[in-house]
Amino acid sequence: MLVARFMAIDDLRLVHEDIPEPGPGEVLIKVKAAGICGTDAHIIKGESASTPPVIIGHEYAGEVVELGEKVTTLSLGDRISVDPNIFCQTCYYCHTGKEHLCLHLTALGVDLDGGFAEYALVPEVQAHLLPPNMDFTAGAFIEPVACCIRGLEQANIRPGDEVAILGGGPIGLILLQLAVAAGGRVTLSEPVQQKWALAKELGALRTVLPEEIQLDAFDVVIEAAGVRATVEQSIKVARRGASIVWFGVSPQGLQAAIEPHEVFRKELRISGSFINPHTHARAVKLVGTGVVRVEPLISHRFPLKDIEEALKVHASGGASKVMIMPN
Ligand SMILES: [Zn+2]
Ligand SMILES: [Zn+2]
Repeated sequence: MLVARFMAIDDLRLVHEDIPEPGPGEVLIKVKAAGICGTDAHIIKGESASTPPVIIGHEYAGEVVELGEKVTTLSLGDRISVDPNIFCQTCYYCHTGKEHLCLHLTALGVDLDGGFAEYALVPEVQAHLLPPNMDFTAGAFIEPVACCIRGLEQANIRPGDEVAILGGGPIGLILLQLAVAAGGRVTLSEPVQQKWALAKELGALRTVLPEEIQLDAFDVVIEAAGVRATVEQSIKVARRGASIVWFGVSPQGLQAAIEPHEVFRKELRISGSFINPHTHARAVKLVGTGVVRVEPLISHRFPLKDIEEALKVHASGGASKVMIMPN
């Protein structure tokens, strides 16, 4: 099978390998779609932790083609999406209901072989069945949607709240739809005006350039770009008593200038949002019922052999979601 294996910083290799055999509790899937995420780009550049050599790609879906021993809940031909995050079940956080903060978190596509491959091993417990009406590209979106649900939970939107989303990439547009579903009145701040029409179609009341967004105006601010400018701006556009979520994954080492007095005076609540605690099954429902539309977020599809080009398109910033279609 063809795989994209991350070997070391700036060294992602397309290689042919044997198709692996599922062990006890594992299934082999034929990977049908795998999304490129900002985290993949960070991993390749050494800006995000991983355990090479490893097949990257953690947003993927496929069809079960082989069952390991002791697999009881999946059958051949099942269509699944993968929750890539695996917890140790023994550390302090796992024992106190905060599994996603596990000290020994490992993830498929980051530390263990993932989805940029024609076939992939998936532990049975990490698989979620797709409803019959959901195609595999939507299935590959479940993981980012699940992470965005966590972000929404951290945001505490009340119906009628003015919500600012800073960044209109695929993640910003998923957060936008979830915020609208939660009753928020959403303003999307995004410098690339070609992205505005889709944001409006997905429920944004207003679309604005970053330099034109109103200050001191939003009950909830969700930063969805992971860059210094939006992190700093999130404090400025928040109104008194606002809740702010820094959702975008900034590269390790990035620093931002925050004035603590402003946080004090406006009594701001700033929160991070990490991965997908108990949100994957709900993400399947929200995408399956069309509450969150992901199809319009896909701008490119590439075969696995063209992953280099796909990564370049992703990095160009003009693209929305870039999908790898390994089969
Ligand atoms: Zn991701
Ligand atoms: Zn743990």
